Amino acid sequence: APVPAAAARPAAGSDACADAGICAPLPVLGRDVSVPLVTGGEVTYAALDYAASAPALQRVWDDVAAYAPYYGSVHRGAGYLSQLSTDLFEQSRETVARFLGCREDDQVVFTRSTTDSLNLLAAALPSGTHVFVFETEHHAALLPWRRAADATVSCLPAPRTPEQAVAALDVALHAAAKGPKLVCVTGASNVTGEIWPVRELAAAAHRHGARIVLDAAQLAPHHAVDIAELDVDWVAFSGHKLYAPFGAGVLAGRADWLREAEPYLAGGGATRTVGRGAHGGLDVEWHTSVARHEAGSPNVIGAYAVASACRALTEAGLDRLAEREQQLLRRLREGLAEIPQVRVLSLFGEDSARVGVLSFVVDGWNSSHFAAALSAEHGIGVRDGLFCAHPLVRVLLDAEPGEPGECGAPDAAPGDRALNAIRVSFGAGT
Ligand code: PLP
Repeated sequence: APVPAAAARPAAGSDACADAGICAPLPVLGRDVSVPLVTGGEVTYAALDYAASAPALQRVWDDVAAYAPYYGSVHRGAGYLSQLSTDLFEQSRETVARFLGCREDDQVVFTRSTTDSLNLLAAALPSGTHVFVFETEHHAALLPWRRAADATVSCLPAPRTPEQAVAALDVALHAAAKGPKLVCVTGASNVTGEIWPVRELAAAAHRHGARIVLDAAQLAPHHAVDIAELDVDWVAFSGHKLYAPFGAGVLAGRADWLREAEPYLAGGGATRTVGRGAHGGLDVEWHTSVARHEAGSPNVIGAYAVASACRALTEAGLDRLAEREQQLLRRLREGLAEIPQVRVLSLFGEDSARVGVLSFVVDGWNSSHFAAALSAEHGIGVRDGLFCAHPLVRVLLDAEPGEPGECGAPDAAPGDRALNAIRVSFGAGT
């Protein structure tokens, strides 16, 4: 059925909404909040948007609630609560290092998110680094490199098979001049859910003396990510996609570039000493440890929540969770296959390996209207749009490509001719 335009729908919480029988109260933070509902009145809200943010595991809520009364400042106090918090913060770092299979010399830096982690690495590039990315990346992995003062960014066109990806990278790196090089790749696409050949791309990078950073924002919640086994130099992920929504992310990996870079944030905690320098200036000696890039009071609850999620997923068994997720994915794909108007988007082909993320378009529907209908009429929350991966969605929808070699080049506004899709994403963690 056609979906009423947003303006024609009663606003959530309004009398008109309640009168129309499509809203019901939900006790949220002690208040009654009315949300538009499926007619019939029952709350059947399913959030199939784990790729954006996954709900916290009960275990994470419980761990955070147990710690919260003892919250204290990290690395700064002699008092009991401060020592306890410092201890938990540093233990969380070790838990994350174990979860990622870090090598002995690797560092785990707590950040705010994957975006923050990749921006931190971009700020730490040695002078003249040549960065290689595929145009299929999330914007968080496409764009930070443009900010590095004297970096060159090469944007590789979307490959249509995993083998093509490895071959294209090989050719591009072979042709590159001497000097520091960095490859940034996704582990699993946030649009198609397709899994990328990370080990092979890492081998290609290292064959040509390049470093490689893995954007594991979508892979880590679904599969074990072992930094040593994949032989990548860095891994970035976000807590809120790994069932730990408390504002923390991780950049883990090689210490050398980070140790030599200017601190990401200048401030307390990153410095060993600060004194009055010559000519009215300041003499600053920065830490060479992980503290160099963690200036300011750290998000100890966020780090603790990430570590709690890492422990919970390890204990539940990521392999077992992945198996369950694949069953759900099969059901979804079979269901969609019965609807002739649905076209599932894929870069590597129908049968490619995926995590629980899948995007599609429906013939004759604007995806935003379709997503609105799923929410308003069926209580199913999905995401619609271009998923912060505009060049990839263009490729998948056979839209006009951007200028060659330019990542994220001219974008149409969301809502333009079919330049949007519907994404369903889930995980077996909750
Ligand atoms: N990389 C990928 C593949 C993502 O899906 C996302 C978020 O959707 C990001 C990076 C950025 O993550 P965050 O928004 O947590 O920084």
